[in-house]
Amino acid sequence: LVSRDFHPDDSVIQVGPVAFGGDKVIVMSGPCAVESREQLMMTAEFMQRVGVPVMRGGAYKPRTSPYSFQGMRLDGLKMLAEARERYGVLIVTEAVDHESLANVAEWADIVQIGARNMQNFELLKAVGQCGRPVLLKRGMAATIDEWLLAAEYIAAHGNLNIILCERGIRTYETKTRNTLDISAVPVVKQLSHLPVVIDPSHAAGQWQWVLPLARAGVAAGADGLIIETHPNPAEALSDGPQSLNFRHMEELMEEVGRVARAV
Ligand code: PEP
Ligand code: MN
Repeated sequence: LVSRDFHPDDSVIQVGPVAFGGDKVIVMSGPCAVESREQLMMTAEFMQRVGVPVMRGGAYKPRTSPYSFQGMRLDGLKMLAEARERYGVLIVTEAVDHESLANVAEWADIVQIGARNMQNFELLKAVGQCGRPVLLKRGMAATIDEWLLAAEYIAAHGNLNIILCERGIRTYETKTRNTLDISAVPVVKQLSHLPVVIDPSHAAGQWQWVLPLARAGVAAGADGLIIETHPNPAEALSDGPQSLNFRHMEELMEEVGRVARAV
C-alpha cells in the first residue's frame, strides 16, 4: 500500500490547513519534552510569530536511562492542546504504547512513533486504527525496507496518512549522535508515494550542525523538517545540546525559505 506501484502519484497528507507532500516545505518545531506551561507557551508564541505551523513536544519520553526525565504524560498533552487553542499551532507528539496512543490520538493532531518503537508491530497495528495522521520515524538501526514495512503495517491496518521521518541511523561514526541518511530522501521518494521529512536534531546531536543538515535535507527534496527548539537549551530536561534557541531557529526559518526557493 505504501509502494509507488500501488499509488504512482505523490500522496498529500492534509492535517488541518497544512499539506505534507505538496509544494511547501513544512516545518515542525518545539522542545524535545514538554517541561512546564511557561516553557511551552513561550515556545508556542514564538512558533506562531515566525510562522511554524506545527509544534512538537514530547509528553511521553522514551529515555535511554530510567533515571532521566520521563515526561509530563497526560498533563503534558493537555498543555499541548492548550497551546494549540491559544496560538493556533498544530501538535505532533509521541505515543509509546497503547495507553499513550489513545491519549495522544485524543489530544494531538499528529501521532509520532519514535525510532525505538518503529518495529513495535502490535503498536503499529493500533496506530493503523487510531484515526490520526502519523509521523513514523526510522529506527536507528532500520534499513529503508524495514522502515517501509513498518509503514505498511500502519497502512494495512487502515491508516494511509503516514509521514516518514529520517532521523539518523547508527554507523561507525561517533562524532555525530547518529548519521543523517540524506540518501533516504530520494530513495524513499522513488519507492513510495508518502511524504518524507528530515529530523536533523536527533541526527546531529549538537545544535551547531542542525542548520547545515536541515539545508541538505531540503535540498535533497524533503517535504518537511522537525527541529528541536528550547527557550533555554542549557536548562532543557532532554536533548538540550541539540536544541536551537529562538534566535537560531529564526535563522533556520530564513535559510530554509532561501533553499526551498532555490531548488
Ligand atoms: C524525539 O523526537 O524526541 C525522539 C525521541 O526521537 P527519536 O525517536 O527519533 O529518537
Ligand atoms: Mn529529543
